[in-house]
Amino acid sequence: MSTRLEPCVSINFDSSTLDEIVTKAKDWALMHGVCMRSRLNFSPDSINFAPFVLVPSAFPKKEFEKAIELQTLVNEMIHRIANNYEFLKSTLAITNTVDPFTAQLFKIYTTVQEEGVSQAIDLGLIRSDVMLGAEPEMPLSSFKLRQVEVNTIAAGFGWLGPSSGRLHRFVMQELSHGDKLQQLPENNALESLCGGMLKAWEIYNQPQAVILFIVEEITYNICDQRFHEFEIRKQNPNVRVIRRNLTQLGRGGAVLDAERKLIVDEHEVAVIYFRCGYSPDQYMSADGCEWDARLMIERSKAIKCPSISYHLAGTKKVQQVLADPGNLERIFDDPDKVARLRDVFTGLYSLDLDEEGDRAAEMAIQNPEKYVLKPQREGGGNNIYGIEASVGEVLKQLKGNPERASYILMDVIKPPLLRNWMIRPSTQPMLVDTLSELGIFGVVIGNAKEILHNSMGGHMLRTKIHTANEGGVAAGLGALDSPFLV
Ligand code: ADP
Ligand code: MG
Ligand code: MG
Repeated sequence: MSTRLEPCVSINFDSSTLDEIVTKAKDWALMHGVCMRSRLNFSPDSINFAPFVLVPSAFPKKEFEKAIELQTLVNEMIHRIANNYEFLKSTLAITNTVDPFTAQLFKIYTTVQEEGVSQAIDLGLIRSDVMLGAEPEMPLSSFKLRQVEVNTIAAGFGWLGPSSGRLHRFVMQELSHGDKLQQLPENNALESLCGGMLKAWEIYNQPQAVILFIVEEITYNICDQRFHEFEIRKQNPNVRVIRRNLTQLGRGGAVLDAERKLIVDEHEVAVIYFRCGYSPDQYMSADGCEWDARLMIERSKAIKCPSISYHLAGTKKVQQVLADPGNLERIFDDPDKVARLRDVFTGLYSLDLDEEGDRAAEMAIQNPEKYVLKPQREGGGNNIYGIEASVGEVLKQLKGNPERASYILMDVIKPPLLRNWMIRPSTQPMLVDTLSELGIFGVVIGNAKEILHNSMGGHMLRTKIHTANEGGVAAGLGALDSPFLV
């Protein structure tokens, strides 16, 4: 059994108290945009509140502060990798032979590298995701931050993160715990991320130019995206945001002019913010028009968030190779920086078809419940876990098969359990054991030579029922949460 934390306030409500606070919290969420579009009963004209847990989750203050302080270094790490052609090339060489999606991204990367990039500036709005890890049955004080991954494309929840904190402030006050609100840390994610886009827009320096959001055909996580758009207008009333999907852009919706300006329906585009484009099913057309759009964007003068090099710097393979001894040292000369980053890494293993990969595969076949098998994918729902789909079975099937190298292997992190009420649309509140994943946002702007801006950009907390392998809120397994520092 895993370590269990105490909830931040008593949650043993009688049924009428529970009903009252849950009804009120749902209405607060609905009326403050803590919402998503329904996948089951989709209508463009309505939204549901997003799943949430009723009270904030206890989180050790020391580890939270460590994550916050580490973020600018994570930003710098990603920026340096993205600007290191040799590192990306050697790291992804084998992956590119077995994973067509990464190979296609890499092809665009090499194309623009050979042609010469039209825009030297990169904008990174990234999110480093961490969990608390320790051996089961350990006291809370022994739990340490463990990095799950760094997202460099479409890192969402800049609105839903901070708004969950506001929802929890309201709930805590309603439950007569207003005296504890100082344990809910401030969170300026939306202002920071949109501020980053506006800084990039200013660097582009064309007053008429717009910010283009690349979006899905149907956006379920609509509040998160729209509140970014509204915040941009609030911070700078002169800046317009337009939304397009890759299919539209690839079928004549965008052109490059002679100076490589990206033009979308008469609008010159200054900044491109991807909320889509990280998954093969988002490049679905047989004629490859979405890939045409991605290449056109990459060739353009617009500042991309992310550029293709940032996208590649966020792959799982890069994360695994960085964890190998000696490789962080290829990125940083400073041993102190190397040590601070390495401190949050967890066991990561190559599955290339060599002796080292064979050893890792054998280790996981012996103890599958200790490992997660990850392909080069984003967006949740792609990993294979020891318990059900069986890491061991998959690795046995892949024995001697070069495709094994398209995966990496990672130690399972076991966070402490915390009891909470999970609240979902059209469902009774459920009292469940949960575990959480903290995301810290980072904003970085720079070119190959220097970093012009580097800041921590707020946080988000997602919580899932402890038996679920993955906790995507949009995917329906997770719930919004906020940290209560203890
Ligand atoms: P994606 O890019 O698809 O989000 P992640 O690596 O973040 O991929 O994995 C998805 C989810 O799986 C995470 O949000 C987390 O809930 C779970 N997960 C991933 N790696 C681990 C791990 N090492 N230990 C425990 N859970 C993990
Ligand atoms: Mg990811
Ligand atoms: Mg993730």
